Amino acid sequence: MKFSGFRVFAEALKGNTGWRPLWRNPEPKSDYDYVVVGGGGHGLATAYYLAKTFGQSRIAVLEKGWLGSGNIGRNTTIIRSNYLLPGNEPFYEFSMKLWEGLEQELNFNAMVSQRGVINLFHSDSQHDSFRRRANAVILAGADARLLSREDLRAMVPFLNFDNARFPIRGALLQPRGGTARHDGVAWGYARGADLRGVDLIQNCEVTGFRIVDGKIRGVETSRGYIGAGKVGVAVAGSSGRVMAMAGMRLPMESHVLQAYVSEGLKPILPGVITFGAGHFYISQSDKGGLVFGGDIDGYNSYAQRGNLPVVEHAAECGLALMPMIGRARLLRMWGGLMDMSMDGSPIIDRTNIEGLFFNGGWCIGGFKATPASGYSFAHLLATGSPHETARAYRLDRFSRGYVIDETGTGAHPNLH
Ligand SMILES: Cc1cc2nc3c(=O)[nH]c(=O)nc-3n(C[C@H](O)[C@H](O)[C@H](O)COP(=O)(O)OP(=O)(O)OC[C@H]3O[C@@H](n4cnc5c(N)ncnc54)[C@H](O)[C@@H]3O)c2cc1C
Repeated sequence: MKFSGFRVFAEALKGNTGWRPLWRNPEPKSDYDYVVVGGGGHGLATAYYLAKTFGQSRIAVLEKGWLGSGNIGRNTTIIRSNYLLPGNEPFYEFSMKLWEGLEQELNFNAMVSQRGVINLFHSDSQHDSFRRRANAVILAGADARLLSREDLRAMVPFLNFDNARFPIRGALLQPRGGTARHDGVAWGYARGADLRGVDLIQNCEVTGFRIVDGKIRGVETSRGYIGAGKVGVAVAGSSGRVMAMAGMRLPMESHVLQAYVSEGLKPILPGVITFGAGHFYISQSDKGGLVFGGDIDGYNSYAQRGNLPVVEHAAECGLALMPMIGRARLLRMWGGLMDMSMDGSPIIDRTNIEGLFFNGGWCIGGFKATPASGYSFAHLLATGSPHETARAYRLDRFSRGYVIDETGTGAHPNLH
């Protein structure tokens, strides 16, 4: 089934009776060449690129719930590639390039919208550090612009520029940054993988690994044993629990991050606005809802829901930044499980168990990485060597001292 404007038109004339499910619902086979654990964005993208780009077959994705039930369907949809550090910037720019061609690649409307990402600054020192980041981004071949207070006022006049505590002095703009429809991304990759023969198996929880003589043989699941030549784990906030079943303790903690959406309003926000001083970020969905988020709840948890003090904090930040939203009503809120690594950067690497590979540590920013993460993980699984943009994401970097601390907050997973 191919999607096109013509198809939408033709279906409308037929009462929309011709649409078919986007993927099959197969029974698990007894064994596969590749088993990807986790049907989130990263797992689905991995399976897609394994089949499409690396020509592999006999692939299954095992998901304990339904596809897209995790963070991929819970995030605030922001995509950008304005990173400072050399370990990160090429990877996120690679991801941005994949976003730019994603809908054509998948023949699926993921609503990728390069509406721009504005990071506000409030002091001279922040101005300096944003200038440095902009230079690093431009040197790496991506796009960045510093906006003066006047430039910014012309774009977003409704901000509280003279806030007594955090007066707004200007911003860093990445014009190519923006948003994408999060669950549409999961569905697009799922459909693309299924079309290439990947078995997407839902309601199939991995409960153990079968390891013989230091080599992976397969996985125990709630639907029985499944043999596997290679296993790639991409379970985001459940990474600690799942890898513990293989005897590994990860340099990572799990935390809750909440997000919020208001009732639908007329278009007002031109793009994404981030208010780092208060840890608040906001954009407006195409339906009109203000989609916003704040900081993680700050305690270790495996619950996909958060607590009220953080809701209050995020609402206060929003009001401090743009008092005009004070009368908007909150429609919904939800939480997701964050895989917070010690330095705030991800891990895409082999493990000490032959045939077992790990992808995780995405903290609060792994949605934008979905295409590059899937591509790089597929590259590692298929070829045995890391993709050139993901070489820094080694598991042993913590013991070797090569940490990638983008925010400069040190080994505090709750602060990244
Ligand atoms: C509220 C919120 C806002 C965010 N905002 C942004 C943002 O604006 N921009 C951005 O870049 N990032 C953002 N993120 C982060 C981003 O969503 C995540 O980093 C990314 O989605 C994680 O990768 P994933 O999609 O593969 O994870 P998930 O979708 O969580 O996938 C992991 C899957 O593994 C499954 N699983 C777990 N255990 C097992 C098991 N034992 N067996 C089988 N399956 C298992 C889970 O059910 C889940 O479906 C946000 C996250 C949240 C929660």
